Amino acid sequence: MYHKLSENHSDMLTVNVINFEKQIKYLLDDGYTFYSVGEIIRMNEAKTILKDKAVTLTFDDAYLNNLTYLIPVLKKYSLKACIFIPVSFIGKTNIWDGGSDRIMNLEQLLECQPYFEYGLHSYSHDNLATISINEFKADLSASQQELNKLKLNYFPVLAFPFGQYYKDKIKLTNAKEALADNGIKLAFRIGNAINSWPLKDPYLVKRIDIKGTDSFWEFKTKLKKGKVKVF
Ligand SMILES: [Zn+2]
Repeated sequence: MYHKLSENHSDMLTVNVINFEKQIKYLLDDGYTFYSVGEIIRMNEAKTILKDKAVTLTFDDAYLNNLTYLIPVLKKYSLKACIFIPVSFIGKTNIWDGGSDRIMNLEQLLECQPYFEYGLHSYSHDNLATISINEFKADLSASQQELNKLKLNYFPVLAFPFGQYYKDKIKLTNAKEALADNGIKLAFRIGNAINSWPLKDPYLVKRIDIKGTDSFWEFKTKLKKGKVKVF
């Protein structure tokens, strides 16, 4: 799981593009197979066996810097990445965390369609911990309706904003029912762990948070263990 790329800056959510390319090269050299989200949906349903070292690239928030820095790397290595769009912020900035990073506008999203797979990242980027189940359902429908209206193709997948989902069992069951009712096939959290295959819970798929502040050793450790600190 990535967010932003930059050529002159790195922080928790921003990976320097030189380091990003080094990570991609390492994955390829070390024998990892890249699967697109579309492939993961199909293969999980068919219970197809994955290669031993399997990885999927995802980017949350659809930042404009993905267009600038991610596409050249994807083109160079013939890879795809899934970009999760916070739908009401198309053409705006990451206002939810007080940021001023540009989010792609519709024209840019359409232009990038050959290189990216799109998925949902909610309509309002609200933390599920702060909204009711009815608000979650309304938000999910709003995000799908808006993308349909914009004629932007997307895969029926959702990345929970902030990676947060309902910890309450009844609410979580209701949320999963809403996902199924809306045709959603996979929902992604963070979790920092390797997923079992076929996916144990397609509505709580785990991702590894790759930070711009990670050393290369930390990146390699995360690939094997999901996280650096075990305790
Ligand atoms: Zn986000």
